[in-house]
Amino acid sequence: MYNDLVHNLEPCPFCKGKAKISLREMRFLGQNGYGDKKIRCAAQVICNRCRARGPLYTANLINPYDRKCQQSEAYKWMLKEAAFAWNKRAGQDDGTA
Ligand SMILES: [Zn+2]
Repeated sequence: MYNDLVHNLEPCPFCKGKAKISLREMRFLGQNGYGDKKIRCAAQVICNRCRARGPLYTANLINPYDRKCQQSEAYKWMLKEAAFAWNKRAGQDDGTA
């Protein structure tokens, strides 16, 4: 379910270009004695061609580029919601796009 959504994004609703999920760091929240960094991150689907963007979803993650973090529920939730929102919009064909 998660992999299906994240790896099978619908084409862009505006230009039919290929889209990808982008993950970025919004704000550094702190670091513990072990060097673990807590960072507020955001996921958003962006069209590679026309740069159209889907809704932004944020989560507070520990070491977001760590493999362990990428298995976490918060991380998966964030990417899944971003992909789901994009696909829903891309699937709509009401002529207003
Ligand atoms: Zn596009």
